[in-house]
Amino acid sequence: MEIRTIGVVGAGQMGNGIAHVMALAGYDVLLNDISQDMLDKALATVRKNLERQVSRDKINADEMEAALARIKPTLTLTDLGGTDLVIEAATERETVKQAIFDELLPHLEDHTILTSNTSSISITRLASRTDRPEKFMGFHFMNPVPVMQLVELIRGIATDRPTYDSCLAVVEKLGKTAASAEDFPGFIVNRILMPMINEAVYTLYEGVGNVKSIDQSMKLGANHPMGPLELADFIGLDTCLAIMNVLHDGLADTKYRPCPLLTKYVEAGWLGRKTDRGFYDYRGETPVPTR
Ligand code: NAD
Repeated sequence: MEIRTIGVVGAGQMGNGIAHVMALAGYDVLLNDISQDMLDKALATVRKNLERQVSRDKINADEMEAALARIKPTLTLTDLGGTDLVIEAATERETVKQAIFDELLPHLEDHTILTSNTSSISITRLASRTDRPEKFMGFHFMNPVPVMQLVELIRGIATDRPTYDSCLAVVEKLGKTAASAEDFPGFIVNRILMPMINEAVYTLYEGVGNVKSIDQSMKLGANHPMGPLELADFIGLDTCLAIMNVLHDGLADTKYRPCPLLTKYVEAGWLGRKTDRGFYDYRGETPVPTR
């Protein structure tokens, strides 16, 4: 089935990026949030990011205006019922996502594909509580959405082939690349990335290296564009800890135990860039290690 219209639930960091790339690729987008303020901020962010693409000659001004005109904000979730594909990108709490699906389901067209951008909740479990587990799957974008090339497509146990193929066609129309992942905790990227970040925190915790030497080692010695601690600050240390807990609980293996130092930073409210302090202190002109 060809997808023409897309509903995005949640206009936060991920939702605004998803609306941006979808509109730029020519899809009509209905963007929903419970907060008018978040909708206003999302549209302002999309405009700012599109303007940056114009200034870098990636798109022209007409394409920018056309994309903006394709995004319609709405506070009414059920307005999304007539779309061909819904991507849920609301707060990462199962009860929140569940309530969204419960409210939306009676209003969906029979053909509508329902997806979630969740980083950690089981797609199979979310799907099982809907009326369309065969038309339900994970559509997992990376942050920041307009920049990152990859989308993980996650099939629940019941997801059918036409649903997968329709989502794959959308990813291809976005000019992005899909990686097909099975529905296990962390999917592919977080399953590999988070234990590496956690190990970097253990390396710091055990005094094997300091913040600077750990990041420098991975940048210069493994050719990573960012050091693991720098990257953890960028992602948010609370998010890193939450994902480690999902891997630890879901895979029941001690190799995924979160480093106590990571827990301590989160307890201190040192969550990385968003709180101005994490493994680095961002309050001055240049970031300096906090230990
Ligand atoms: P966010 O906190 O920036 O945005 C969440 C938005 O959802 C907020 O604007 C909030 O008002 C809205 N919301 C809450 N309840 C709602 C409801 N009932 N109906 C409609 N909107 C509602 O979060 P985010 O970082 O954009 O994450 C969203 C989803 O994307 C999560 O599932 C997360 O796991 C996933 N994700 C995040 C990242 C990341 O790096 N931030 C990467 C990949 C996937």
